[in-house]
Amino acid sequence: MKYRAVKGTRDLFPPESERFARAEEAARRVFGAHGYGEVRTPSLEATELFARSVGETTDIVHKEMYTFLDRKGRSLTLRPENTAGVVRAIVENRLASGPMPLRLWYAGPQFRYERPQAGRYREFRQIGAELLGVPGPAAEIEILTMLFAFLGALGFQGLVVALNSVGTAASREDFGKALQGYLASRSEGFGEDDRRKLAENPLRLFDSKDPAVRAALEGSPRTTDFLDPDSKRHHEEVRRLLGHAGIPFRDEPSLVRGLDYYTRTVFEVASSELGAQDAILGGGRYDKLVESLGGPPLPAIGFAIGEDRLVQVAPRPAPSGGLFYVLPQGPEELDEALRVAAELRSLAAGAVEVDLLARGFKKAMARANALLEEAASRGLEREKIFAVLLGAREREDSTVTIKRLSSGDQETVPRAQLAAWIAGRA
Ligand code: AMP
Repeated sequence: MKYRAVKGTRDLFPPESERFARAEEAARRVFGAHGYGEVRTPSLEATELFARSVGETTDIVHKEMYTFLDRKGRSLTLRPENTAGVVRAIVENRLASGPMPLRLWYAGPQFRYERPQAGRYREFRQIGAELLGVPGPAAEIEILTMLFAFLGALGFQGLVVALNSVGTAASREDFGKALQGYLASRSEGFGEDDRRKLAENPLRLFDSKDPAVRAALEGSPRTTDFLDPDSKRHHEEVRRLLGHAGIPFRDEPSLVRGLDYYTRTVFEVASSELGAQDAILGGGRYDKLVESLGGPPLPAIGFAIGEDRLVQVAPRPAPSGGLFYVLPQGPEELDEALRVAAELRSLAAGAVEVDLLARGFKKAMARANALLEEAASRGLEREKIFAVLLGAREREDSTVTIKRLSSGDQETVPRAQLAAWIAGRA
C-alpha cells in the first residue's frame, strides 16, 4: 500500500512553505497597521450557509463543494471560501450590532472540488479581509489602498485593479433579463450547464470558460448600463476617489465575479504571468449578505487573495541573513559544539545548525558546501554562510575556527571574542 496526498492537495516544504509564511506575515503586519484584527473561523460549516450566501446556482455551490453527511445526518461542507463563515461568525457572536466599522482579516485553507491544473488546487489558501459598517466609497478606498500596500510589501509593481459595478439585486435582475433577451438567439452552441445558467442565473454565464459562451457574450449588455441612480453615483465616486488615491484601475464591464452575494463594486487583480484569465485576488461589496444571514442591515466589502497563486508569482525577495554551521570534529566535541551554537544564537547572528552526527570535518564540510549551493533557495546570503570548526585543538585553546565558505578564508577566534568578531564580519 502506497499512501499519497489526496488529488488536488499538496505538501509544502521549505523554501515554498516559507513563501507562504512570508505572505501571511506581511498580511498580519500591513492589515494590522490598518486596524484589522485576525479572525479564525472553522473549516467546516453547515452546507446551507454557502447555498444561501455564495448562491445555489453558482459553480462553487453547484459542483465544487466538499459536502458530506456527518454521523448524525447533518449536511456539512468544507468551506469553499471564507466570507460566508466570517459573516456567520459576526452575526452569531453579535458583533454586527456592536461598534462600527468592523475590520477583520483571515488566512486559511479553502476547499473546492475543481479539476486540478497549474495553480488550481482542491485545497488552496486564501488571505482576505472584510470591512463592515461603511456604506460609502471610503470603504472601497481603504480596502484597495490596504491591498496595494500589502502587494507592495511583497514586491509587486505595476498591478492594476479591474473594476466594475453589478448594482443592486433589482438592477442585476433587469440586467439579467436583458442578457437573456440578448442571448436568446445566440445560445445554440451552449452546453447543458450554460443553458441552465441562462435560464436560472444569466450573470453566471460570465464565469463560463466555454469559447461559445464567451463569443456570444461579446457585445452583450453591460452591468453599468443597468445601474440604479444611487449605485451609479457610488460607482462614479469610487472611480474618482481611486484616482485621487493613486490606485491604478481600469473599467472591466464584463467582470461579475463567481459569487452571488456581491452588490455594487466588484474588482479583481490579475497577474500577467498567470495568463489573462487568472486573477490573484477578487473582491467586492456585499451590502445585503449580513442581513440575509440573519443579522441587521449592514453594508460590507472584502477581498480574497489566492495565496497559492500569489506566492507563485510574487517577486523573490533578496536573500538576507546568514547561517553558521557548527562542526564538531567528533563525538567528544559535540557537547562543546552545542554550547557554541547556543552562544551564536544568543548573538542573533543568523541561523545556527550543528552537525549533530559529528561525522568528522571531511564529511561535514561536504554538507556545509552543499548548504552554500542551497543558499539562494533558502533565502540566505552566500557571503554569510560560515562553517564553525571545533576540533580537539580549539576545545583545548577555547577557540573556534570560522571559515567563510564563499571565499574559503578562515580565522581562529578566541571564544571570548566571538561577539566582537561577529559584529565586525558576519
Ligand atoms: P474567489 O473566492 O473564487 O473569488 O477566488 C479568489 C481567489 O482565490 C482567486 O482569484 C484565485 O486566486 C484563488 N482561487 C480560487 N480557487 C482556487 C483554486 N482552486 N486553487 C487555487 N487558487 C484558487
